[in-house]
Amino acid sequence: MSADPRRQVPRTDTLLADPELAPAVDRLGRELVKSAVQEVQQRIRDGEVGPGDAVAAVLAGLPPTASSLRPVLNATGVLVHTNLGRSPLSAAAVAAIAAAGGTTDVELDLVTGRRGPRGAAAITALLAAVPAAQAAIVVNNCAAALALVATALGGELVIARGELVEIGDGFRIPELLVATGARLREVGTTNRVTLDDYRDALHEETGAVLKVHPSNFVVRGFTRAVPVAELAAALSGSGVPLVADVGSGLLRPHPALPDEPDLQTTLADGADLVLASGDKLLGGPQAGLVLGRADLVQRLRRHPLYRALRVDKTTLAALEATLRGPLPPVQEMLAADLAGLRRRAAALAARLAAAGLDAVAVDSEARVGGGGAPEHPLPSAAVSLPGDLAEPLRAGTPPVVGYVAGNRTLLDLRSLPPAADDALAGAVLAVAEDAA
Ligand SMILES: *Cc1c(COP(=O)(O)O)cnc(C)c1O
Repeated sequence: MSADPRRQVPRTDTLLADPELAPAVDRLGRELVKSAVQEVQQRIRDGEVGPGDAVAAVLAGLPPTASSLRPVLNATGVLVHTNLGRSPLSAAAVAAIAAAGGTTDVELDLVTGRRGPRGAAAITALLAAVPAAQAAIVVNNCAAALALVATALGGELVIARGELVEIGDGFRIPELLVATGARLREVGTTNRVTLDDYRDALHEETGAVLKVHPSNFVVRGFTRAVPVAELAAALSGSGVPLVADVGSGLLRPHPALPDEPDLQTTLADGADLVLASGDKLLGGPQAGLVLGRADLVQRLRRHPLYRALRVDKTTLAALEATLRGPLPPVQEMLAADLAGLRRRAAALAARLAAAGLDAVAVDSEARVGGGGAPEHPLPSAAVSLPGDLAEPLRAGTPPVVGYVAGNRTLLDLRSLPPAADDALAGAVLAVAEDAA
């Protein structure tokens, strides 16, 4: 009779009312706890959990937060990994998000009590970082910035054929531009474009000349492009604005990435507007940055579409903190020296080997990723493990994402903050123990 544990499944209401689960209900909400309760009830019916252990099993099965997004250790060697949320935010940016998450003065002047300019501090920080810009606005991402420019400047956009770029996962910049109703006037060929090609394409309906940084490929051999400075000089006096999408969001030239364009130099070279992402090399939140001539920025801000593309208070908070606070993780990773990376790899490998694992430190190559510095490997160091560990590591707690090379799983350390080394070792040891 009642000896069968499946007959003694505690009732949902009884479990939800258990005082031990009350803090979880407060923290996660009743529905999430209820799902965990129902899973445990099923496991009791299946004979996997004893009825007396129900509450403990529910507690163990609760998610850490009310969001199912989990922190992941990025050991891919790709610093800006789009599938892993691109740039990790600095602690300062995370704190700024938490502070702005409630009600905040994003659009209120607390001195006068009147409406104030939205996100003014983030704009001020951007302009301080890029003095060649007269004005700036922030939209949802760089794709939104392109859509706004194409819509507001409108007419015909002149663009080189070699810059009709697909960024990733089917996102093609020319298709986005055309979707706004703009017309494209393609100039040059796949590999070559000249100043005359641009000159010949201009007419009264030209809305802008657009230069797009081919951020995820390079063309080699018989090639020719027109530098921003030359194009700007040729356009000056024509009234046609030169808009440059630099993508990566570098504010200034970076010694480790000599071929990557930056906002300050591109504007100083004469571009009227520059566009970039906030969550690539800048190391901040997802955002589209538009900087440059005040009259053009004002035109974009006044356009009705801007209202549909603007960012929220948490993005503004994180962007300002990224610009004004300590160096964000992506910049730290870029600056990390090889000797330090090798020391970390050696220490980790030694620790794992001491626990009986087949782990060795090896040299590796990291990449910027996320549409930046293609073909520019960054020297790095990794922990090399048996190849069959890649999958269980992804399923571990916390999940670790490395990559497989030959019959080895490599965990690259340039894409991982040094503070996460302990967590990495712990996660690898837990997976190895499970496998043993
Ligand atoms: C990455 C990239 C984009 C798209 O940026 P999102 O912020 O992802 O919308 C656009 N243009 C270039 C040149 C890029 O590198």
